[in-house]
Amino acid sequence: MTDKMNFQADVSKMLDIVVNSLYSEKQIFLRELISNASDACDKLKYMALTHPDITKQSGELKITVTPNAEANTLTIADNGIGMNREDLINHLGTIAKSGTAEFVKNVKENGSAVDLIGQFGVGFYSAFMVADKVEILTRRAGEDKAYSWTSNGIDGFEIAEAEKETNGTSITLFLKEDQKNFTDTIYLRQIIRTYSDHIDYPIVLDLGKAGEETVNTASALWAKHKSEITQEQYKEFYHHISKNFDDPWMTLHFKAEGNIEYTGLLYIPTVTPYDLFQPDRKQGLKLYVNRVFISDKVEELLPAYLRFVKGVIDSSDLPLNISREMLQQSPLIAKIRQGTVSRILKELKKRSKDYDDYIKFWNAFGIAFKEGLYEDFSNREEIAELSRFASTADAEKLTSLDEYIARMQPEQKAVYYITGDDVKTLVNNPQLEAFKAKNIEVLLLTDPIDEFWTQTLTKYKDFAIKHISQADMDLSLKRDDVKADEGSLKKLTDMMTELFKDEVAKVTTTDKLTKSPASLTVENGQMSIHLERLMRNHQQQTAFASSRILEINPYHPLIIKMADSMDNKDKEQEIKDISRILLDQAKIAEGEAITDSSFFSEKLSEYILKAM
Ligand code: ADP
Ligand code: MG
Repeated sequence: MTDKMNFQADVSKMLDIVVNSLYSEKQIFLRELISNASDACDKLKYMALTHPDITKQSGELKITVTPNAEANTLTIADNGIGMNREDLINHLGTIAKSGTAEFVKNVKENGSAVDLIGQFGVGFYSAFMVADKVEILTRRAGEDKAYSWTSNGIDGFEIAEAEKETNGTSITLFLKEDQKNFTDTIYLRQIIRTYSDHIDYPIVLDLGKAGEETVNTASALWAKHKSEITQEQYKEFYHHISKNFDDPWMTLHFKAEGNIEYTGLLYIPTVTPYDLFQPDRKQGLKLYVNRVFISDKVEELLPAYLRFVKGVIDSSDLPLNISREMLQQSPLIAKIRQGTVSRILKELKKRSKDYDDYIKFWNAFGIAFKEGLYEDFSNREEIAELSRFASTADAEKLTSLDEYIARMQPEQKAVYYITGDDVKTLVNNPQLEAFKAKNIEVLLLTDPIDEFWTQTLTKYKDFAIKHISQADMDLSLKRDDVKADEGSLKKLTDMMTELFKDEVAKVTTTDKLTKSPASLTVENGQMSIHLERLMRNHQQQTAFASSRILEINPYHPLIIKMADSMDNKDKEQEIKDISRILLDQAKIAEGEAITDSSFFSEKLSEYILKAM
């Protein structure tokens, strides 16, 4: 009995892109199918740990590539786990992977997909780049029934019961007329060596009458000695394991010896993956025990702030028959994690000495890495040392905390920062005027995460880390310019406090401003205006808003004029209007929305006109 089924809409869209817009590098389909075959062998090997009876008859695990020039077909077969009917339906056609819609969107925006195919887990479908029909014959290990799956890659697929002696999967591509070169053994050998040499199972090329030939080295790369591995091999393995196609920014291959032995081959990508902030992203490390693949879901292997690290950990000290649940509580895993994290941090420290090089890493992953500042208590100081920040000292370069400290003023006791939406708005914040005048550097923090780590990391080495509103040094600017009369100033601030009683707690004078007539701040110890805005944007009703203070600059000619006119009844409305404009300007400088924008622009034009 044959069942006809349609592809899910997202799958259809994605197939259309894969088939019709990818002209170059068609050969990657072979890498994808071999990679799937290798995964299937890994799964069978894992199953063998608990079901030796089922997997016994399988024989040596291998992948066979068989070209047939006469029929213009290419078959990729494995004796791995195989698929049953549900597997075929679920994995190949009806349920789009979570990344599929993202893939379609990305290709539409960026116009290229070759690099993304593997990353979005749509590798299988690349077969339709070279084939106008694909036929799968498969039987799942431990089950009796075999199935065939056939599709033209356009509207859907057919599934039927079939005959197959052994477990595993055989995928036959009926090549398009113009893709005959994929039956050429010389070409096939070259593609396999280029993209799949590191595969841990023999890839056997069927040469017809000339017999069979194992084309790859078939050994686990991480188990080899560094000196036997070329940069190309490292890179190719990175592509395989990460499903990314950039160059790795960092390759870290190590063997830990001592109470627990393990090998790590870890990579940091160059390019930020699309799913860095998606909760359902794949965990980056694969765990092997003595080269037997155990799991790629052991979240405990690395802390979340290092989730961009890809690679393999292989330990011979873990029991082979360990269940995935047991792994989660294993103290050995905790030790491996600890060791691995400190190796990564050590390597980052080395690389951090070269600014241009390190900043590539920082720009791609710093935003995730900073989560470690509050997540990883034991490595906090090192993570802080490795973090980089925009600062008022240099608009072109990011700074480290150590560099900041080296530039501190003699009387300075703290590292100061300000938070906001973007650097451009922040540098113009009036609250920075006193710091600029006194040559005190301020870090400009613009990631939402900055609001959180600054709550917990309040000290670095001997110095406190403080928001500028909490500065406890004397920031007043002593000067002998003309200042508004104290009595009139008092009347002005009293009038403004009353006028804005629903918006600010009070209006006061400050001698910390230079250019600006007014500025907003919060009462010491309260949530910053930026954090309050972030929480509001995330619909998190804050229990109470911070009480804000509007500070005015008594040396500013406008404030002097306003104060001087306080006793003039005719000017009363004008002073109120201008006060409102000042509050609005202060809000804008903070990146806040103003309450009544039409009032703001009308009044502003009105007064500009008067002045002309
Ligand atoms: P991914 O490999 O990222 O999961 P693919 O599109 O390459 O995405 O494959 C989809 C799924 O189809 C696999 O996850 C697997 O469940 C199944 N599959 C593909 N090829 C094989 C195979 N040779 N043996 C067993 N299952 C396979
Ligand atoms: Mg795949």
